[in-house]
Amino acid sequence: MNTERDLVNLLSNLIQMDTSNPPGSESLAAELLRDWLWERGIRSEIIEYEKGRGNLISRIKGSGGHSLLLLSHSDVVPADPSRWKLPPFSGVVRDGYVWGRGAIDMKSMVAVETVIFSEMVDKELKGDLVLAVTADEEKGGSGVKLLLEKNPENIVADYVINEGGGEGILTKKGWLFDIQIGERGVFWYRVITKGIPTHGSIPGLGVNAVEKMSEVLNRVFMFKRAYERSTPSWRYAETLLKMEGLLENGLNTDNVEAFLNKLAEIDKGLAESVKAMLKVTMTPTMIKGGVKENIIPYECELTVDCRVPPGYSKKDIERMVSNLLKGVDCEFVFIQESEPTLSPINTPLYEAIEKSLLKHVPDARLEPSTKTGGTDSRYFRNRGAVAYGFQPLKVEGNYYDWFRMIHGDNERISIENLVFSYNVLKEAIEHFILVH
Ligand SMILES: [Zn+2]
Repeated sequence: MNTERDLVNLLSNLIQMDTSNPPGSESLAAELLRDWLWERGIRSEIIEYEKGRGNLISRIKGSGGHSLLLLSHSDVVPADPSRWKLPPFSGVVRDGYVWGRGAIDMKSMVAVETVIFSEMVDKELKGDLVLAVTADEEKGGSGVKLLLEKNPENIVADYVINEGGGEGILTKKGWLFDIQIGERGVFWYRVITKGIPTHGSIPGLGVNAVEKMSEVLNRVFMFKRAYERSTPSWRYAETLLKMEGLLENGLNTDNVEAFLNKLAEIDKGLAESVKAMLKVTMTPTMIKGGVKENIIPYECELTVDCRVPPGYSKKDIERMVSNLLKGVDCEFVFIQESEPTLSPINTPLYEAIEKSLLKHVPDARLEPSTKTGGTDSRYFRNRGAVAYGFQPLKVEGNYYDWFRMIHGDNERISIENLVFSYNVLKEAIEHFILVH
């Protein structure tokens, strides 16, 4: 099959372009894609936001209906070759797998979307179809931000398909796939305690900032937010537990923890990921205090990674943190904030995706989710677009091993999964955008 060969070659070549971020060098991938498209008679443009940091963008005109953006990013996280069985930038094809950094996150989807895009060029489209392969997603999304600020007419579309969902879990009762319809908000904050320095040999004379922080640390660790029924992933959790044969009746806020603990016995990675989707989480990630062995520390700083489901505003979080730290002599400031985002599910794109998935996996279930991490989709949702994370892949083995591969060692994708991804997305896209 020619398409299979195209997909494998393109992915393998993309992996060979080392776009580890930092420093990025995404123009290497953008130039490869520009040439690949040009050989097929399709014009594209590279827009660099810094030297060597290129976004690739191309648009096929439709006849005025809803437009669709196929979004992906070309940068990858770094890889330490000494930990890999095969070199991470080799793009080697072995035993039915394409190996290398980015094989899943997300050069496979770059290849899939690019091939599908190229096949739409001579067809009659309802709305514009846009392909954007952007830079710097792994370190803040400067590539997408630049396009949205300086060239919005190039990239903005009514609908977006991006990474972030589409993972198929093989349960006892068949495949369960998720489609990411929203993202948790990110509110990183820093807590600062102050003391009075004196000689470390007479502790009673000073005020120890680390001692004050120990109370803060204690409270943040003890913070246990209740599971929330109103989170968009609730139904995903319920369906998953039922399909695993763990739950017969309804799930409620009192029994959810116990059921997810049962799931953890089968797959801890999946259970912990679902738990995090259903509530506010606060995780201390960095701590710094003291300047010398024999000086009482006069300042201590704690950084907390706080994530919240859709529905929470910055004001809510401010109140929550103030309450948590009430009575402790400290200050806190937000150092990174992005509110949660959410797209509706009663849309023609959702329908097209579900229809295509069910055709390729007849006994599958599709449920919306809000995955635990963030993607570039949030920038589009904030501008009113409907954005879905849907990179259809069948998870192989247990979820923990799968998930660890993504920013970890020995990342690889089976050719079977690559072709599956292409087939499901192609039909969904055709259904949505083609004039039949
Ligand atoms: Zn990614």
